[in-house]
Amino acid sequence: MKNDISIMELLGSEGPIAGAKAGYEYRDGQVTMASLVQTALDEDQICIIEAGTGIGKSFAYLIPLFIWCMDHPDDRTVIATSTIHLQHQLFEKDIPFLQEALHMPVRSSVLKGRNNYLCKRRMYKAIGQRSIFDAQDGDLLGRIMVWSNQTISGDRAELPFPVSGKLWSQICSDADTCMGFRCQHRDSCFLMEARKKALQSQIVIVNHHLLLADMILKQGEEDPDFSIILPPFSRLVIDEAHNIEKNATSYFTDVYDGRTLLSLLARLTHTRRGSIGGLLEELRVSSHDPLSFNAIYQQLNGFKLAIDAFDTAIETFIASRQGSQFIERDRFLSNRMITTACSDFHEQIRAYTAILRACLDSCEEMPEVASQFYEATAIRVKIESIGKLIGHYISFDLSETHVYWIDFWVSDMQIRHLSLKLTPVDFSSLLREGIFNVYHSIICTSATLTVQNRFDHWEQKVGIGDQIDRECIRQSILSPFDYRNRVLMCLPSDAPEPTSYREYMDYGSRLISELITTAEGGALVLFTSYAMLHEMYDLVCAQQTTQQLHMLKQGDQDRYRLMKQFVEDEHSVLFATQSFWEGIDAPGNTLRLLIVSRLPFSVPTEPIFYAKKLLLEKQGRNSFFELSLPDAIIKLKQGFGRLMRTSEDRGVVCILDSRILNKRYGKQVIASLPQTQLMTGTGERIVERVEDFLYAKQP
Ligand code: SF4
Repeated sequence: MKNDISIMELLGSEGPIAGAKAGYEYRDGQVTMASLVQTALDEDQICIIEAGTGIGKSFAYLIPLFIWCMDHPDDRTVIATSTIHLQHQLFEKDIPFLQEALHMPVRSSVLKGRNNYLCKRRMYKAIGQRSIFDAQDGDLLGRIMVWSNQTISGDRAELPFPVSGKLWSQICSDADTCMGFRCQHRDSCFLMEARKKALQSQIVIVNHHLLLADMILKQGEEDPDFSIILPPFSRLVIDEAHNIEKNATSYFTDVYDGRTLLSLLARLTHTRRGSIGGLLEELRVSSHDPLSFNAIYQQLNGFKLAIDAFDTAIETFIASRQGSQFIERDRFLSNRMITTACSDFHEQIRAYTAILRACLDSCEEMPEVASQFYEATAIRVKIESIGKLIGHYISFDLSETHVYWIDFWVSDMQIRHLSLKLTPVDFSSLLREGIFNVYHSIICTSATLTVQNRFDHWEQKVGIGDQIDRECIRQSILSPFDYRNRVLMCLPSDAPEPTSYREYMDYGSRLISELITTAEGGALVLFTSYAMLHEMYDLVCAQQTTQQLHMLKQGDQDRYRLMKQFVEDEHSVLFATQSFWEGIDAPGNTLRLLIVSRLPFSVPTEPIFYAKKLLLEKQGRNSFFELSLPDAIIKLKQGFGRLMRTSEDRGVVCILDSRILNKRYGKQVIASLPQTQLMTGTGERIVERVEDFLYAKQP
């Protein structure tokens, strides 16, 4: 039966949403977006919508989706988001509200990555070996067991007390060690229960990673309904779509790091308090050749030394330089020390895994140690995959399509963290073949997808562009907020070039100090590097003559606590970088001054960016206009979007980067931002204008 309720009726000022929501405001843009989504659902199209802040984009896709679900009760839609915050908002607020307001009993659920769920089998095993955990973790295991009998979801996010990532990784569900239907806890397994709920749902909310994992598993399967991770679905909403490429980058990066490898080896064999333990010791009883297990111990010491020698060689190769580093093929392959270290390490991995395989092959099937067998086999597969990665470093056979890079940093406790990575440079064909050519309707939405009103940059990254032979709806819907009257954008004309670092820091610290004093806090200062953030913070703090402002800086506390303090104290000033350019929601007077230290161009030496740049240049394309500039504009739009979160908000954005005025591309940057009042002038004039603007009487 076709549900012939119109979007307009539902979203109109006399409609059921208005009736159920206090202070409801009708928005043309929301109706436009909902109608486009409805067309895409009805006509099997791709629909790409940039929805400015305040459009209410979740309702704009959920409402047509609800209508679709009522008309097609057997169809399923997946909504993939980038952040947990949005998943919670959809599942706990928006969907229940619409179910009630629209009287549409659409079934929905959230399905997270399996590592979010407690694995009862691993938990009981850990409890059985509690003596090998330190006292604090031993106590926590007891509390987790009590919680496991009370929780319905087994979701880590619902744990009422903090558990370290290290402990959780030993008791959460893990793809390699899950015994599935052979597990004795399968009837009460949290993951299986979550999947069962997803199978019964019409709308399943997941994150981008889970969508990508599902895509990889389904690739190569002839049956499009083939399902392992997600239940079959025909329609897809990708929310926070500007992040899909970033999430694909992290998902498809292969990593080696010595610490993880050592902890895998320790799970197989370890000596604690004088006694030998580990999976292999437990498996020995099931082997028809228990003596073969001794060979593992003989091999183990050499293997550990090889890990150490390999890490030392890599650190020498990068001259202990901290940060992420692009590895150039010729430089790597012509370095005898490093190629020998790679080959030796590769040989050690091969020898160790050969013995491990022989040990596991000698095991008979015994139910008492079936889980140990599973886990040891999974560890063998993981170590073999590290061997494969090192093999790629020996030959650099993927250098045409992948980035080879190294991450190195030393913690405050002087612990060295070194990892070797391998990442595909271009995901466009993968996403096109795995997603955009597969599902009937795909809605992609975000507040930041366009550069100068064009979607090309984002579309090319994700494989839509001209390479796709499908109907595609594209629309950018402006924010309904009154930016012209409520936001003042200031561009100082006397700011030194960012390349004149010292002068820039002196100027910037003075102006920031005066601006935050004038605004009496309520300020977010965004940076593109930690180093500049720290230095500027110190300089600005030194210029504060009173204790009036509550100065906060990223890194001093975890993000949650930092945000809580910032939102609760209207006189706070937060210095931040990276993830704080997006996802901060500080409505009202909490945030009235946004200062952008520099245009957020990617660091030229950042490995993934550098590899993409090289690829474009190899194709004879202009990497600045096709990559650097559009990426920076999208990021700036994200940062800019932090200021106005509701129609009542007002405030100032100040961009301390003279390139926006002095370079020709500056006009493109300004044209991509919402249209505000614009002021250029000396820093001194700007401070006066900001004061007038912030303290002007409101009509
Ligand atoms: S089925 Fe898998 S995830 Fe569930 S309890 Fe068993 S091993 Fe753990």
